[in-house]
Amino acid sequence: MEGRPPRTILVAGAGIGGLTAALAFAERGFRVEIFERVERFEAVGAGIQLSPNATRILGTLGVLGRLAVTAAAPEAVVLKDGKSLKELARVPLGKAAETRWKAPYLVAHRADLHTALLARASEHPGIRLHSGSTVAGISFENDAVAAMVEPDGRQEKVTGALLIAADGVWSGLRHFVKGSRDSRPTGTMAWRTLVETASPAGRGLVSLAPTNRVTAFLNPALHMVVYPLRGGTALNLVALTKGEAGAGSWTNTTDTTPLAHAMRGFARPLADLAEAAKPWTAWPIHTVDPNGPWTDPRGLALVGDAAHAMTPFAAQGAAMAIEDASALAALVAGAPNELPAALARYEAIRRPRIRRVVRRGVFNHFTWHVSGPVALARNLVLAARSPDRLAADFDWLYGWKTGDEADLTRRRM
Ligand SMILES: Cc1cc2nc3c(=O)[nH]c(=O)nc-3n(C[C@H](O)[C@H](O)[C@H](O)COP(=O)(O)OP(=O)(O)OC[C@H]3O[C@@H](n4cnc5c(N)ncnc54)[C@H](O)[C@@H]3O)c2cc1C
Repeated sequence: MEGRPPRTILVAGAGIGGLTAALAFAERGFRVEIFERVERFEAVGAGIQLSPNATRILGTLGVLGRLAVTAAAPEAVVLKDGKSLKELARVPLGKAAETRWKAPYLVAHRADLHTALLARASEHPGIRLHSGSTVAGISFENDAVAAMVEPDGRQEKVTGALLIAADGVWSGLRHFVKGSRDSRPTGTMAWRTLVETASPAGRGLVSLAPTNRVTAFLNPALHMVVYPLRGGTALNLVALTKGEAGAGSWTNTTDTTPLAHAMRGFARPLADLAEAAKPWTAWPIHTVDPNGPWTDPRGLALVGDAAHAMTPFAAQGAAMAIEDASALAALVAGAPNELPAALARYEAIRRPRIRRVVRRGVFNHFTWHVSGPVALARNLVLAARSPDRLAADFDWLYGWKTGDEADLTRRRM
């Protein structure tokens, strides 16, 4: 792995952002060495919503076809009052989403998205994936960046033109960007479980949250989002409550008392069904202030959660990692001999968008958890809006395109 090939990109982390970056650079003719600390990938997490701004990019990178085999395209997002179970609003998706935003809105298991990205990266001649290889340090040498990689307890130095740190919310590499911000707990806990639709709890839940849609139940103490996975044979439940405990892993089996307590605000059948849908796992939500620096002009860029982990209230964390990766590759490929300028442009272009998405998450958090007269006002405003008008609110978000996606699409045809 020694040497300093001129157009080699190093990527730390083979998660959603890292694999997308590897593909986006390799598609533009770069050689990519991608390092992942885990030896073997496990099916961690549960469902993920993939909005058209993300699926459009996955399409240009040849990932969408694979994903479509297991993903579902819900017909709508439906907001319901968690207490009365009354429908508050409906945003049409399905064919309407494809027509409006020119790419599908999908729900998938996170592991299926990861497998699709991994399969495409593994077959790409420009990408070499090194699993069981932690990037432990970074240094800058003349016009190259060096990564200290630790495979099998050994240490190796690998050099390239640019290192992309895609090592997630708990990033250890973010600190190599001077002035970068630490991740912080938000006081919100995300709870997840999967329910077989054929089980008694699953059958009951399907009657409240049918498998052809994303259903969000709103309540002041928590909101719960339900959508189908794996061909509708399972339902993914995500609930967000106040709470701090637990380490950063979905594999925690945690005391669910706070969840059960928050569920008391739901209608009885919904609370009982959700309670029966065990085992729940918990994940404390941490965020990273998006105003910190993301790059070092000598050849380092943060993407995804490492740069700007956000709350899941807009369901956009993975989508933003995908957008980051695509935008970064387009900018660096557009000015290969002007890396510092390309990195500065990456921050300048991405930051306003990330800030706006973060603001949308804050807005959703507020409006979904209000109570009393404010909730009443929210419900009236939602009821007054047509589905088309509600969909139009998402044009800025779901209609986004990387500058040169059209160029990549042309090259694939
Ligand atoms: C409850 C919840 C629901 C969500 N729902 C959605 C949703 O519906 N839609 C959406 O778009 N987003 C959603 N997200 C957000 C999304 O999961 C994340 O934003 C996304 O996974 C971030 O991708 P990433 O590539 O930045 O990091 P990750 O996917 O976390 O990948 C980081 C990778 O880096 C590896 N790594 C770490 N350190 C090193 C190192 N030193 N060397 C080598 N490898 C290393 C890790 O092992 C891992 O594989 C949700 C998040 C939560 C918590």
